[in-house]
Amino acid sequence: MHPKYSFVIPIYNEEQTIPEMYRRVSGVMDRLDDSVELILVNDGSKDSSLQLLRNLHETDSRICYLSLARNFGHQIAVTAGLNFVRGQVVVILDADLQDPPELIPDMIEKWREGYQVVYAVRTQRRKESRFKRFTAYVFYRLLKKLADVDIPTDTGDFCLLDRQVVDVLNSMPEHNRYIRGLRSWVGFRQTFIQFERDPRFAGDVKYTFSKSLALAINGLVSFSKVPLRVSSYLGLLTAMMATLMAMLVLCWRIFIPHSPLTGFTIILVAIFFMGAVQLFSIGILGEYIGRIYEDVKRRPLYTLAEVGGFHNRSNPLRSGLNLPIDRNS
Ligand code: UDP
Ligand code: MG
Repeated sequence: MHPKYSFVIPIYNEEQTIPEMYRRVSGVMDRLDDSVELILVNDGSKDSSLQLLRNLHETDSRICYLSLARNFGHQIAVTAGLNFVRGQVVVILDADLQDPPELIPDMIEKWREGYQVVYAVRTQRRKESRFKRFTAYVFYRLLKKLADVDIPTDTGDFCLLDRQVVDVLNSMPEHNRYIRGLRSWVGFRQTFIQFERDPRFAGDVKYTFSKSLALAINGLVSFSKVPLRVSSYLGLLTAMMATLMAMLVLCWRIFIPHSPLTGFTIILVAIFFMGAVQLFSIGILGEYIGRIYEDVKRRPLYTLAEVGGFHNRSNPLRSGLNLPIDRNS
């Protein structure tokens, strides 16, 4: 018998939040009307998180865990969880309680109304730095303008997905996964609930600035071809400027006896400007080519070092990798 509900939580160095996370999530699980499994994905934590997951799995039979062989990043950790869920209804949430588990029953209510994707929109981010709030604000609006699909603003990965949607997501092989974008891309009946984002329960943010930036670039590049066009526009613009300047110099030479346009400065500026435009364009091209490169290698999305609670399940790893020995078998 498969559970009706599956919760997926990625974990990276969360030893400080795991006990409280379990307390609150299991409180919600106890109140649900049907069976539920909780899949905890250890994303190569360096602290005692994995041991805590093992203990939880031993005390609570609803809990299974996957342990990735290294830190693969949040999006891949969630993907691994999605590959293994069996529920009819799947909920993804963060371990740090910034996504309040108490909202899950409301999301399930929407699912009962017939929606297949219910995402959570952050109306407010409490106690997050001004810089983070500002960059997130700008980024989500830029993404909305540029992306081919309508990716709702101010949403994270906190969401409910119907089995049908999870199956589609699992069939997508791409390596650079921007889950909140893919979730919009698939379509189906979607709706949202609103919530105020609490501060992290404990510990530091695991999304460093560089990880957030990588995620943002991934979102833009995976869902928009506009940046590719930027280099064409820039090229056109500089060509027009160059023509204008050439005409200016010509006029000066012909009509003004002592032309002020002499010396190196202007040449140097022009060279640097052109160099910058070209490097920028190559950089944009590189972003796209890098993604093609990632995908043609056809490596598996992640490697698993240890699993717990999956001994009687068939191997969902499409990569052909074997499931590690289950601690229970
Ligand atoms: N996380 C992960 N791998 C990473 C970074 C983060 O699995 O490389 C998990 C982390 O444990 C947490 C969630 O992703 O459950 C969100 O991370 P965080 O709270 O640091 O990010 P933010 O709230 O700023 O989005
Ligand atoms: Mg967080």
